[in-house]
Amino acid sequence: MKSIRGLKIYREIALFMAAAFLCVGMLAVFYVAMETGHECHGEECSVCACMEICESFIRQVGTAFPVLMAGVVYALAVLVVILPLTDGVYGRTPVDQKIRLND
Ligand SMILES: [Zn+2]
Repeated sequence: MKSIRGLKIYREIALFMAAAFLCVGMLAVFYVAMETGHECHGEECSVCACMEICESFIRQVGTAFPVLMAGVVYALAVLVVILPLTDGVYGRTPVDQKIRLND
């Protein structure tokens, strides 16, 4: 039986690996998008070689990466756009606003 401390380490490793996977995928997509119209120097173009590696990574990931990116975009939209507009999930209470209710 695993101890709680051991499970916490596995969870942290899994989160780190997921974050690293996401960062590599995003960097690959951004690199391909940035260098699509580059000035090619022929057969031994280093930019084309890097783009080929990035496209290979994106192809190997398959359909998981777009789903993951959609989840990230949704989470960012909720955190950055929707929550500040709605003043949190439940709104602010008089106690949160430090309003003193005197009788
Ligand atoms: Zn090139």
